[in-house]
This record gives sequence, structure tokens and C-alpha cells, in this order.
Amino acid sequence: MEPAGIPAKLSFTVRPHLPAPLSALRDLAHNLRWSYDRDTQNLFAQVNPQGWASGVRDPARLLAEADKSHLERLAGDDGYLRALGAAANSLHDTLAAARRTIPHGETGEQALSTPSGGARRSGFDHLVAYFSPEFGVTEAINQYSGGLGVLAGDHLKAAGDLGVPLVAVGLFYRHGYFHQELTVDGWQTERFDDVDPHTLPFTEMDPAVEVDLDGRRLHLRIWRAQLAATRIYLLDADLPDNPEDLRLVTDRLYGGDVEHRLRQEIVLGVGGVRALAALGEPVSVFHTNEGHAGFMGLERIRLLMHDGGLGFDEALSAVRAGSVFTTHTPVPAGIDQFPRPLIERYFADWARACGVDIDTLVSLGHSPADAPDRPFNMAVMGMRLSQFRNGVSKAHGDTSRAMFSNLWPGVPTQEVPIGHVTNGVHPQTWLSPAMLDLLESVLGAPSGWHESDWSAVRSITDDELAAATQADRKHLVEVVRRRLMRGGLSAGRSPSESAWTDLALDPGSLTICFARRMAAHKRASLLLEQPDRLRTLLTDRPVQFVFAGKAHPGDESGKEMIRRLVAFAAEPDMRGRFVFVEDYDMALARAMVQGSDVWLSTPLHPLEASGTSGMKAALNGALNLSVLDGWWAEAFDIGSERDAVPNGWAIAAPRDNNGDTDPALRSRLDSDALYELIENQVLPLWSQTAPRRGRRPWWEWVRRSLATLGPVVDAHRMVRQYTHDVYAPAAAASHQLCSADHAGARQLAAFTRRARASWDNVRITSVDADDATGDLGSARPVTASVVLGDLGADDVEVQLLTGHLGPGGTLVDPEVTSMSACSGAEGPEHEVAYEGSARLSSPGRMGLTVRVLPSNPLLHTPVDLGLVTWAG
Ligand SMILES: *Cc1c(COP(=O)(O)O)cnc(C)c1O
Repeated sequence: MEPAGIPAKLSFTVRPHLPAPLSALRDLAHNLRWSYDRDTQNLFAQVNPQGWASGVRDPARLLAEADKSHLERLAGDDGYLRALGAAANSLHDTLAAARRTIPHGETGEQALSTPSGGARRSGFDHLVAYFSPEFGVTEAINQYSGGLGVLAGDHLKAAGDLGVPLVAVGLFYRHGYFHQELTVDGWQTERFDDVDPHTLPFTEMDPAVEVDLDGRRLHLRIWRAQLAATRIYLLDADLPDNPEDLRLVTDRLYGGDVEHRLRQEIVLGVGGVRALAALGEPVSVFHTNEGHAGFMGLERIRLLMHDGGLGFDEALSAVRAGSVFTTHTPVPAGIDQFPRPLIERYFADWARACGVDIDTLVSLGHSPADAPDRPFNMAVMGMRLSQFRNGVSKAHGDTSRAMFSNLWPGVPTQEVPIGHVTNGVHPQTWLSPAMLDLLESVLGAPSGWHESDWSAVRSITDDELAAATQADRKHLVEVVRRRLMRGGLSAGRSPSESAWTDLALDPGSLTICFARRMAAHKRASLLLEQPDRLRTLLTDRPVQFVFAGKAHPGDESGKEMIRRLVAFAAEPDMRGRFVFVEDYDMALARAMVQGSDVWLSTPLHPLEASGTSGMKAALNGALNLSVLDGWWAEAFDIGSERDAVPNGWAIAAPRDNNGDTDPALRSRLDSDALYELIENQVLPLWSQTAPRRGRRPWWEWVRRSLATLGPVVDAHRMVRQYTHDVYAPAAAASHQLCSADHAGARQLAAFTRRARASWDNVRITSVDADDATGDLGSARPVTASVVLGDLGADDVEVQLLTGHLGPGGTLVDPEVTSMSACSGAEGPEHEVAYEGSARLSSPGRMGLTVRVLPSNPLLHTPVDLGLVTWAG
């Protein structure tokens, strides 16, 4: 084959020329804070107004391509230079405040115990390492595929605003994630671009690290991207001294076969830990966003054994104490799993170094009941190697506790130690300029919104809301027209064939948007269940739909869903009223969440972990229309006890008798419910102009939605919750176990060994209480006799559970109290008598039972070890 071009022998970077007064633009372009800082964005917009407005925002490229005489003009513009100076100063202040809070590995500065920097600082001064396979910070850095990455980006931004010290670890993918192109038949094709890291605002770090891949050494380069004060380290395998095939390990996000994925995850987890050590980052807490980085736990165990002289169990205890695992997958099939032989091959050396056998290694990715040859499950390992575990919405917490309950046999599902922190979105990233102005005028600066009184938004007038959302809808229409035209041309249509796109969408119609990954369970095609009803709706009523979303390259059913949507959108009478816009990315997401009036989401319950696009839309003054799943299940009726109007609409079709096990039936029912809502509630509300108390009802709903959902969907709320409920306890637990040469970890490991070895002998031999009818509010003495075997009374906690008697004689939400030992250990089996008191707290039938759990001050929760003995 002929080479496609002339290969370069050498390559280098040429820095664009900037007039001296503008040199600060380079620093501002190099810190990704510009991705949400409006003042900085305005500076770059003026460098090239058309370039900025027309698509991907990319300051580094804008500077490189800027017109020289235009730059000279700006260099002589006093107003511009003043704004530039202010932005540069505020960046400088942000970085200086962060340096005072936390030691920085590179400079060796010491931490001060009292963080300064004003009310915004968090007061938390331990360093958190946040691992994620993808980061969605800006569309200019194509290193994200969807929700997981965008959430990671929003997490970093909000943490930065709050002064929570955090470093991020990920991979640098040479081809990023694919761009979606549609053929004329509406079939998705994937285009991967080359991403040259030298053209991105990255700094190459000095130390390089290595990992071992099945006996072969892989060198990794570390790139640093700076997001305000937060450092993002990305590992890159594409180095000339690596073997050709291994250079491709970091080629694509979620690309390749299962072995390729395994290699990527070794680079992320193992390489990530090594990179942090090489860079001197003093990490206290390790947080992994989904299970892909789980191998970091194995590497840290190895390091503690090798450098700290700990035994395997001791190192395991130490690692768990400071580890946080966030699961995002309610679908078992969506979890990363690796065939056992692959794990054996890649981790045999690790097992040898740690002095454990392969079964011990494999058991870290198995549930107790799993067959030995079962694939190695990364989420299970995440649960096992982290003491702090959470789902990403209240509903997803429930789903996760049920899904992983087999890891804690004997523990009731509601007590499975997995909590939840509901996702959030970063307001400054997602709000339109008009809505940001409006909200700022009543709430103050966005980084403090999680503490603001959101009822203040009720003073925003109809006219203000109408003006802001109209501008945003108009912008969406422009973006959609441009993208439709471009898509048509690149699919091979002539300009005249694509001319209709100039008139696509009506800036005055109710605009319903849907943008999700195109996967079967998100049910993007739910409206197409009843195509004639949809045609009637679009013909007779002032409504239009905008759809977008990528299907995973291997997901044929997702692609078929896109094809059906595109085919419907191409019907001559529907064209321009129902559109599918290709290549969903952060730029298109921004336009859609800002320009929508109604945000539609139709997941198949309970398969939505959280969802965040509806949150972005809510902040921009849209109303949500969604199935009760993910975040909407907990948010849709917040405040309904106070308000006459709701937050939005819940698509809640009646359930059938057999629990809706048939997805086709479920979709039929849900599509009926969806049409009912659009036809009979959404559109009438939209069209209703008669004011109530001087206000148009639609805006009354919007104010209500903003006031109640605003504080909930804000990523600052999310990060604060992580900091208080997760990071701070994790840092404390880690300190407790690791200080004084890991004395705590050694003690806890010894206790765990002893408890496990003796637990089979623990028995409850009797439970005694009067079973006569009692009076509400009174207390009833309960005694129990417990055989402790080799354990002492201090090693266990005996608990009394009292509750209302439900169906089948089960306790409903029992109250748990401690019982106290009232005798010494007697006899050869160490039998101890316990006493407690049951509160008769509900009228009707009540019941009680007793259980024994391990107890140790170093144990995070008593159920953690999964050792529970119940009264038989
Ligand atoms: C917000 C966002 C997502 C995630 O939204 P979901 O509601 O979780 O699907 C995905 N992709 C992009 C580009 C986004 O901006």
C-alpha cells in the first residue's frame, strides 16, 4: 500500500506569537478553568468571535489560529487589557489559595493546618485522588464518552470551587472517543480522530512510570492538565520505546477486546498509583469513579507489604480504610468482568510478590457463593477493597444494596453497607449566560448556591424567565440548523438537498429534548411506539422534538434505535419538527439543556443509576418529564407538601400484576402515559396564557422547579456530601489504621482473623421475654444467652431488634438497640447472659429478635465483615 503521506522524521511544537500585553492569555488557555469561567470565556470569545460561537470552544487552538492584526488591536484595547488582568489575577489567587491548603508534591511545600482563602474553603485538608477512566471537562478535550466522564469533570470543578484538595488520575487516549456520523440511511458510523497531546493544554511531567503487562514492561508518560487548582494526570502508553502493540493500549476510550480492557485498567489502576507516588502527591483518600481503576487497591497492597513490611491481611485492612468506591451500574451485565485465566496470567507475579495463592487473588473479585472459574468482577473487587461504597441516587443505593447483598451473607439487604450520594451538575459549566445572570442576581455567586435560600428565585418575573429561555431556545435552533447542515453535507448530500435545514425547528414552539446514550434500556424510541399519534401531535400542536445520542460501537440495537429515529425525522411532513442531531458532545449538550423547555427521559426502571442531563436542564429553567427512576425518583415531588404545583411530570404508568417483567408491555404502558402527559398536561400548560395571581402558570412551574431542584442538583451539594460523609471519615479511618507504623491495621487484621476463625462457634442459645399483651410506650425486658466460643464479650456486640410484625412474621424497619452482658463467661463454651429492653413503639402486633455481630473500635461498621449470627 502507498503511504497516505510523507512521514515526518522529527516533530516539535511551535508556539503562536502573542503580543506581549496579551501573554496572560496563554496561561488562561492553559488552565482549564476557562471551561466554566465566564470572564475568561469572554476574553477568548473576543479573540475570534465567530470561531468561538460556531462550535467547539478551544482557546489553545483559537490563539494558534488568531488573526495577527486582530490580536495587535486587542493588545491596544485598554478595556480588554483590564479584563485580561482581572482574569489573570483571579486565576493566580485561586492557585495561591490552594497552595496554602495542601502540600504540593512537586514543590515540597508543607501543609498549613489552617486552610485560608475565605468562606469558600472547605476546611478539609487531606488530599483525595480521584480515579476515572474518562474525564469530560470540555468538548475541546475529547477524553470522555458520556455521563461517567462528564460527572467526573463536574466533580473536579465543584471540588475546586469549594477548596476540596483533589488530584485526578486517568488515561490519555490517542484517539479519544468516537465522533458519530450518520449515513444517509441513518446508520451510525464511528470516526476516531488523532489527538496530538502536544497541541492540548497539557504539560509533560518529568518522571515516567512503568507497569508490567504479562511479563512485558510498558513505559508510561504522564501528562498534567490543570483545572483551576486541581491537577489531572493522564497516563499515555504511546511512547517510541514501548513495543508496537503495547503502544496501542491507550488508543481508544472503551475500545478493543477484553484483554485490551484489562491492560487499560492495569495502566489506570497500577500505573496511576505509581504515578502519584513518583510525583510525590501525598494522597490520603483514594476514590474510584466506577470499578475500572480497581487494580489500584492491589498495587497499594503490594506497596504496603513491600515497603511497610505488612502482612497481606494487614495491608488489605489499611488499604480499605482510605478507599472509596462509587458504583454507577445497576445492570449486572454492565459491569467489567475478566475471565479467570486472564487474571491469573496478568497477576501471577502480583500474587507471588504478596505471598498469596491465586485463589486468594481471584476471591477478591468473587462473591462467597461464586464457582472458582467464575469471571473476575471489578465491582465486587471495588466493594471488597473499599470501606466506603456508594451508589449515585437514592433509588440506585437500594438497587446496589440488593445487587451486592450476596457479598454480605446474613446481613439484611437494607443494612448492606453501601450508601448513596446523588449525582449533581456544575452550574457554571451548564448554565446559559442569561440564566446564570438571572440566578446570580437573586442567589449570589454559584459556588455558594448550595447554601443559598433558593426560595429567592420566586422573585424572578415571568418576563425575565421568558426572555432568558427564549434567547436560549433561539441559540439551540441555530446550533441544530448548523449541525444538520454539516451532517447532511458530510453524509454526501448536496447543499440544495440540505437547504431545508435553514428552516428546521421553530424558535417559538414548545421544545422537548432527549439526549442520552442510545442503549435499549434508555428507550429513546418510546415515542415511536405510536407513530401515528406522534405525527398527529407534531402536525396539530405547537411542539417539536430534538434527539441526540451515541450508541456504543458494538451495540447494534442502539444503532437500530438511532436509525428508526432518523427515519422518522426524514419523513417529509416531520422534517424540521422532529430532528436527530448527530455527534452528541458537551457543546451540543449545553445547547440542548439550555434551549429545551421540557427535558424528556424514559429509562426502563430500575436501570437508570442517576442521570444528570435532566439536572442541567432543570437549572436552565426547563421542566423534567421523566420516568420515576434515577435522580428523578427522589426529586420529582420534593416540596409537594408546600406547593400547589409540582416540579415537573412523572411518567408513571400503572404497573401490571406480575411486576412488569415484560419490557415490551412496560414500554407500551409507558408510551401511553407519556402521550397522555404531553397531550393533556404539558401542552395545555404551555398554551395557557391566563395568569394566576398575575403570573403565567408555565413560569409558576418553572420557578417552583428551580427553587426546589436547584439546591439538590448542584454538584457543590454533591461534593460537600462526599467530603463530609465519605472523604473525611475515610481520611480519619486511614489515619487511625496507618499511623504509628500501621499499628491499627495490624490490630484490625488480627481481630478479623480471630473473628473469622471463631465465628462458627458463636450461637444464641435462648431468647426470653414475656409475650403477653403490653401497653404502647412501655418497655419490655429481654434476656438472651450467647455462646461465644473463643471470643470474649468485648469482641462482639449483641443486638436486640424490635419492630412491627409484617407479612410472613418479618420485622418491618426494626429498631436496633444494644444488649449488655450481665454475667461473666461461664462453662467451657463461654456462655454469657445478655439483657436489653424492647420499646413497644407501635400498636398492633410487634416482634423481636436478637443477633450477634463482631465488635472492634477499628471496625468501620459491625456488618462490614459479613459475620452475623441470628437467634435460630
Ligand atoms: C450530561 C451529559 C451526559 C450524561 O447525561 P445523562 O442524563 O446521565 O445521560 C452525557 N453526555 C454528555 C455530553 C453530557 O453533557
